[in-house]
Amino acid sequence: MGILENKVALITGAGRGIGRAIALKFIQEGATVAIMVLEENETAVETLEMMRAINPECRMYKGDVSSFSQSRQVVERVLEDFGRIDILVNNAGIAWDGLLLRMSEEQWDSVIDINLKGAFNCIHAVLPSMVKARNGSIISLSSIVGEGGNAGQANYAASKAGLIGLTKSIAKELGPRGIRANCIAPGFIDTDMTRSLGERRMQELASTIPLRRSGRPDEVASVALFLASDMSSYVSGQVIGCCGALYC
Ligand code: NAD
Repeated sequence: MGILENKVALITGAGRGIGRAIALKFIQEGATVAIMVLEENETAVETLEMMRAINPECRMYKGDVSSFSQSRQVVERVLEDFGRIDILVNNAGIAWDGLLLRMSEEQWDSVIDINLKGAFNCIHAVLPSMVKARNGSIISLSSIVGEGGNAGQANYAASKAGLIGLTKSIAKELGPRGIRANCIAPGFIDTDMTRSLGERRMQELASTIPLRRSGRPDEVASVALFLASDMSSYVSGQVIGCCGALYC
């Protein structure tokens, strides 16, 4: 019997990377998982097949988290299909780096709209059902740069810092309704997002990490599993690092 038996989870941006790893870990622990993806591309379909090989009930929904109406529609469909959402993982995110002096308005807006407003959109949509159930775990993928800042990532760092403020506020506002909210702050994790930096830069960065390597998506997924499950029943309003001591 897994620690997420009978739980329903919605994970955004889970077609690949950390989101995919979280989906698979949750399913292995007994959850039924709905993933929200921007595009139903080959990688996302492959993720769904991997999920269904463990639990055939799992489903994929197409939607853009930066759209208030699309996020709402996906949540409504998941509720229709599964009856409830016990766990929401705000994982969808993008980086569009650049020095602030040269940062365009579009560059700023799109990162904030997807990373921060996207989480608001999904949280806002799931809350009524969680409040009714007097139960829920909301997990948002922040980042160590949301805590420490990073040159060339003002938009990304601001969005990830915003998630921390959002999470702590929800924890206080909705704790009395039985809802927990926490952030995970990953460091440097080996995914398509970081691979876009190139092999050399990745090795340089890994050498600055006290554990001397980048993290794996499944290592972030283990933290998400803890926060999703009753093992963390008294943990709320927290930011849990997963960074090999890169930021501490
Ligand atoms: P990734 O690029 O592999 O995955 C991000 C996913 O989000 C993609 O599947 C993408 O399609 C989806 N997405 C983007 N815009 C979307 C939208 N508008 N609507 C729905 N889905 C959308 O990246 P990842 O490394 O797996 O990152 C997952 C999360 O973890 C992100 O929020 C990221 O900021 C965060 N994070 C990653 C690292 C890292 O080192 N990889 C570090 C800290 C935080």
